[in-house]
Amino acid sequence: MHGAAVAAMVLGGCGGGTSSTGEASSGTATEGPPASSTTGALPTTGSDSISSSSSSSTGEQSTTGEAVACGDTAAPEVPIAWDPGQPDLSGCEVRGQRDYRAIVHVHSHHSHDACDGDPQPDGVPDEDCLMDLRAALCVTRIDVAFTTDHPTHATEATIEEMLLIRGDDEPVLGAGGTAIASWMVCANGHRVLVIPGVESGSMMPLGLEQHVPDAYGVSSPASFQQIKDVGALAWVAHTESRDLAELATLGLDGLELYQLHANLDPEIREQYLGLDPAGFLTDVSPFFFGPGPLPVPDLAPLGFLLPNEPSIVALEQLGQSQRLTISAGTDAHQNVLPSKASDGERIDSYRRMIRWFNNRIRVVGPLAPATAKAALRAGNNHIVFEAFGTPIGFDFHARAGEAVTEMGAEVTASAGLTLVAALPRLDPRSPQSSETPGIEGRLYRATADGRELLQSWTEGPLELVVPGPGVYRVEVWMTPRQLAPYLGEVAASYTDKPVPWIYSGAIFVR
Ligand SMILES: [Zn+2]
Ligand SMILES: [Zn+2]
Repeated sequence: MHGAAVAAMVLGGCGGGTSSTGEASSGTATEGPPASSTTGALPTTGSDSISSSSSSSTGEQSTTGEAVACGDTAAPEVPIAWDPGQPDLSGCEVRGQRDYRAIVHVHSHHSHDACDGDPQPDGVPDEDCLMDLRAALCVTRIDVAFTTDHPTHATEATIEEMLLIRGDDEPVLGAGGTAIASWMVCANGHRVLVIPGVESGSMMPLGLEQHVPDAYGVSSPASFQQIKDVGALAWVAHTESRDLAELATLGLDGLELYQLHANLDPEIREQYLGLDPAGFLTDVSPFFFGPGPLPVPDLAPLGFLLPNEPSIVALEQLGQSQRLTISAGTDAHQNVLPSKASDGERIDSYRRMIRWFNNRIRVVGPLAPATAKAALRAGNNHIVFEAFGTPIGFDFHARAGEAVTEMGAEVTASAGLTLVAALPRLDPRSPQSSETPGIEGRLYRATADGRELLQSWTEGPLELVVPGPGVYRVEVWMTPRQLAPYLGEVAASYTDKPVPWIYSGAIFVR
């Protein structure tokens, strides 16, 4: 076993790094963003022909969180080949809001430790590494990438340079007339909205329209206010290692509820999660090493995925007095293990990590920097561990008469206030077999005294009258029986063991 090498899976040491100036990007400001990335004007690839946005303007909405065009195809009769990508989410709509896949927390060549630690050889961006990142976002059909580069080299780059513009990409201009985001144009017709941010020590502003170098690296109420004053979102990564009393003072918009490295970093595992520090080696090795036919390496999270309990507690406790958005942090740098997995791709590829899980922001109106940031600011997000399958139809909201409270929002307890949750089904386009997955919803309530499981259920929508104030969350757990054909000889070790599939945003009842 490549213990030392795999242990490096965590290193993303974020200090040091010599500086060099990145090249000027080729982006030239144009008149602005396209009206929408979902107009159907662009060709889609393969068999996933999804109807255009006309289906989302008919006003037809199901109460189970499912629009007609969203994965509305027949299930395959035989197992389909493993898909390194993910199906288009066009048509996936709830109450007039569309779900988009977002990556929150990823590093490009503007981070000193990305691209095998040498992101800009001789001061020139590692274009091969950038092409890997671009291809990863395109094939997994990520709709929005909130990048989070470290100050070295991010502060040496302009915001426009941080947009990773190449080829036919289109800059998106902000109110000041400068580029604040870009549409990455993919060969498969997909488009990715790139919105830059910075991860600096213990803070991670998202959606920066200008640099705020004085604030970077300072975890204080004043520095978070500085970044909010320029329109960015106040976020922290690696929540599991943070002090709650300090976090409570920062005026945060959101925090990471799940972070990949918390499951793979020996120190974090031992110190904050109470796990065997080296246990991840046992967890991941069946997917990458050994004789005989190996499982699909993209399914490695079946081996290592564990809840980040301290981060969940942080949300629940801070949430007693403030609203917070959740996110899952991919934190990919493509800097860990260049050796190849059985699929011929490097073990730590951008694509593989981005394929493991993502965020589903529920956006009002056409996708644009402002609407994407508004969805995150409002908290209308849920985390999907999509390596296990693409879910369709998940919903969680509160209802009092006609008034609806979406995920991430606060609502005052009142007579008849009801929580409504709909279980998802597996998208027919997702890799699967004739076996059906077990799907279980769990509704939790947290008060200052702790967490209680209010209900678990496996069929139909849940409706439950709110018993009182608290932080309410839904988790969906999957027993991945449908994945057996992709797991070879070790299938029996995984197909009966439930894994997290969805973490809802919280609803904060006061
Ligand atoms: Zn890093
Ligand atoms: Zn990071």
